[in-house]
Amino acid sequence: MSEETTKKFVKPKGIGNRFVRIKCKDCGNVQPTYTRTSSVVVCNICGATLSRPTGGIAEISAELVGETE
Ligand SMILES: [Zn+2]
Repeated sequence: MSEETTKKFVKPKGIGNRFVRIKCKDCGNVQPTYTRTSSVVVCNICGATLSRPTGGIAEISAELVGETE
C-alpha cells in the first residue's frame, strides 16, 4: 500500500481509453494525459504524481477537468 496519504488515487468512471485533461491539485497546472498510461504521470510544473498505471485505466490523483479529442 502507498504511504502517500495526502493523495487519493481513483480510477475515473465512465471513461475509456482517451486523452483527458487533468489539473494538479498542488499547483493548478492543467495538462493532458492518456487514461490508459503505462507509466507514472507527473506534473510538468511541480513534479507531483498525477496518475499511475494499474495495467488498465490509470488511477488519477489530479482533478479531471475535461476530455480532449
Ligand atoms: Zn503541479
